[in-house]
Amino acid sequence: MEKNTIEHAHCLIIGSGPAGYTAAIYASRANLKPVLYQGIQPGGQLTITTEVENYPGYPEGVQGPDMMVNFEKQAVRMGADIRFGLATKVDFSARPYRVWIDEEKEMTADAVIIATGASAKWLGLESEQRLNGYGVSACAVCDGFFFRGKEVGIVGAGDTAAEEALYLSKLCTTVHMIVRRDQMRASKVMQERVLATPNIKVYWNSETEEVIGENKVESVRIANNKTGEKTTIPVNGFFIAIGHQPNSDIFKGLLDMDEAGYIKTVPGTSKTNVPGVFAAGDVQDKIYRQAVTAAGSGCMAALDAERWLGEQGLH
Ligand code: NDP
Repeated sequence: MEKNTIEHAHCLIIGSGPAGYTAAIYASRANLKPVLYQGIQPGGQLTITTEVENYPGYPEGVQGPDMMVNFEKQAVRMGADIRFGLATKVDFSARPYRVWIDEEKEMTADAVIIATGASAKWLGLESEQRLNGYGVSACAVCDGFFFRGKEVGIVGAGDTAAEEALYLSKLCTTVHMIVRRDQMRASKVMQERVLATPNIKVYWNSETEEVIGENKVESVRIANNKTGEKTTIPVNGFFIAIGHQPNSDIFKGLLDMDEAGYIKTVPGTSKTNVPGVFAAGDVQDKIYRQAVTAAGSGCMAALDAERWLGEQGLH
């Protein structure tokens, strides 16, 4: 990494999931000569999944990591300058905007597209990480289908957990829902739906001790935190739905965000409150969080950036 050399990009993209790469494809084709910094996990969350069956255009399904390699290749073929490096600081107080990479290299940019994604929160168990992608998943919409007609577990008690438990209840024989307190955080209507669904069994005051299985999930051991009683539940899939953390720390205080740190965009656009700074993908979306919606919003960000640069007489 060159030190102390300031380099200018017409359009700087931060992040390399479906949103960042799609923005790079569109920005390249619009001749915005985008420079994209990949972050610490090139390809983003899809690189830690296995098979993706719900991305249109892949009738036989595709491995998440392979799909992201293809996204990158397509962006490179269109002319995007893709680089390894993590944006560690930004300054949006004056134009051109300034972005520091790996704390040392400084970039300036006319337009910035933020596509830094979100990270699923995990319980922090060794067994959970070992079996991640082998029955353990943080996305029911992505992976529920693989457990059709089987028993699954889900941990969490917010709106995501409630929504995912309901989704799974339509595919699976039984959904074992593990809730750490004696109540749920989810909205009342979602709670009522969960409790009225006969094949969702709720375990109150329960914490996950271990996900059990050699090469794939076979069961999960939980403990009641009031009585100490331990129970082993046979399941084929185990879903973690305890929240996500948007990767937006470096933008705090500079961009409008909600209380959880999701960047606010003008509805129907990718525009943030700072002109020329756009946000796409999971860093601004806590509802849908799908590869296809992220890619769609990456496209919007590139088109918004192109239009904005044109209006400024910069393109
Ligand atoms: P939340 O932060 O709302 O909920 C996280 C849940 O996980 C809580 O019930 C929490 O328990 C539980 N939890 C956290 N850590 C652990 C742990 N280590 N072990 C066990 N359980 C744990 O996250 P969500 O993803 O559910 O929702 C995020 C936001 O998005 C919310 O504002 C939500 O309303 C919104 N949302 C809206 C949707 C919609 O409108 N359709 C759909 C999905 C989300 P505890 O309650 O004990 O803290």
